[in-house]
Amino acid sequence: MKILENYDLTPLNTFGMRARARFFVEVNNESDLKELFLFPEFKNNSKMFLGGGSNVLFTNDFDGIIVLNKLKGVDILREDNKNVFIRSMGGEIWHNLVSFTVEKGYWGIENLALIPGTVGAAPMQNIGAYGVELKDILENVEVFEIETGAKKVFKKTECEFGYRDSVFKSKFKGKYFISAITLQLSKIPKPNISYKFLREYLESNKIIVKNSKASPVASPIRLQPRDVADAVAEIRRSKLPDPKVIGNAGSFFKNVFLSEVKIKILLEKFPDMPIFKENEVVKIPSAWLIEHCGPKDGISWKGYKEGSVGVHIKQALVLVHYGGGTGLEVKNLAEKIISSVYDKFGIKMETEVNII
Ligand SMILES: Cc1cc2nc3c(=O)[nH]c(=O)nc-3n(C[C@H](O)[C@H](O)[C@H](O)COP(=O)(O)OP(=O)(O)OC[C@H]3O[C@@H](n4cnc5c(N)ncnc54)[C@H](O)[C@@H]3O)c2cc1C
Repeated sequence: MKILENYDLTPLNTFGMRARARFFVEVNNESDLKELFLFPEFKNNSKMFLGGGSNVLFTNDFDGIIVLNKLKGVDILREDNKNVFIRSMGGEIWHNLVSFTVEKGYWGIENLALIPGTVGAAPMQNIGAYGVELKDILENVEVFEIETGAKKVFKKTECEFGYRDSVFKSKFKGKYFISAITLQLSKIPKPNISYKFLREYLESNKIIVKNSKASPVASPIRLQPRDVADAVAEIRRSKLPDPKVIGNAGSFFKNVFLSEVKIKILLEKFPDMPIFKENEVVKIPSAWLIEHCGPKDGISWKGYKEGSVGVHIKQALVLVHYGGGTGLEVKNLAEKIISSVYDKFGIKMETEVNII
C-alpha cells in the first residue's frame, strides 16, 4: 500500500471535475485498512472515502487524504429454502453484485440495476430506484471507526435509513468507513413491479400480461429477476445521461416530501402540481418544480446551459458538466435553482449529491 501525493481525481468522479488530492491511497483488503490507521498522513489529515465518485461534486482540491475503496469479494453466508444471505465487500461495483444475484435467480435488488458506484457507498444514502430501497433487503453494515480503527457492525435498525439518508450521511458523517454489507435476498419470487414505467415496459414488451396482478405465477411467462433487472437497465439508459458521455452524478436534488396539510395549500395555488401519496407524507417530484421555474420568466431550467454546465434536457433533476467547467459553477447553478423554486413555491429543495 502506497500513499501518493498531489493525486489527480478527475477520472475518479463521474462529473469529471478537475480536482487533486494532497494524499491518495487505495485499500485492497482489510489489512491495508488496519495498516492505514497507523500512517501519519491518515491520522493527521482530513479524510474522505471514495468509491465510484458517482455521488460527489468536487468544488476544490482536497487538502487531506482520499482513500479509494477496492475491497473485493462476494460470499454466500447461509441459505435455506426461502432466503439467502449474501455478504459483499464494499469495493465491489454495485451493478456487478446485482448481476451476480439475478444470475442466481435471487430476488431483492433487481430494481436497483445499473445504479453506478460501489457497494460500500450504497448504505450512505440508502440507494433507491423503481420502488425499492437498499433498506428493504439489507441485513447489516460492517464498518471501521475512523477515530480508533475498531470494527463494528450496524444492524439495519441502527442505520436509521430514510429517503436518500442514513446515519452515515447525517449524525455519523465522516466517522466510519463502510467495509462490507450483508443482504437478505429471497429465493421465492417477490417481484416489485408497482412502479408505473417499469410495469408498462414489462407489459409492452410482453414480459408480463397486461393488468395481471404482478404475480409471476399468474403470468403465462414466468418472470425472473433477470427480466426485471434488464427492464430497469433499459429504462434507465433511455432516461439518464451516461456519465461516460456527459459528466453528471445522477439526480442532483432530492424529491420533496410534505405533510397533507401543506400539500393542500400548495394545490390551491398550483392545481397542476403532481403529487404521490407515500404513507403519511406526500411526494412532489422536484423535477416538476425545477421545470416550472427558470432563470427568467418564460424560460425553464430544463435544458438550460450556463457556460460549461447546465440542466439535462430530458431530466431536470440532473445537472451536467459539458467539460472544462468547475464544481463551483455547478454549485452556483444549483443554488440559483433552489432559490428560484423557493421563490415560486416556498419549497426548499435539498441536494442529494455530496458537495466537497
Ligand atoms: C447516472 C447516475 C444515476 C444514478 N442513479 C441513482 C439512483 O437511481 N438511485 C440512487 O440512490 N443513486 C443514484 N445515483 C447516485 C450514486 O450512483 C449512488 O449514490 C452510489 O451509491 C454512489 O456510489 P459511489 O461508490 O460512486 O460513491 P461516491 O460518489 O464515491 O461517494 C459518495 C459518498 O459516500 C462516501 N463513501 C463512499 N464510499 C464509502 C465508504 N466505503 N465508507 C464511507 N463513506 C463512503 C463518500 O465519501 C461520499 O460522501 C446515480 C448516479 C449517476 C451518475
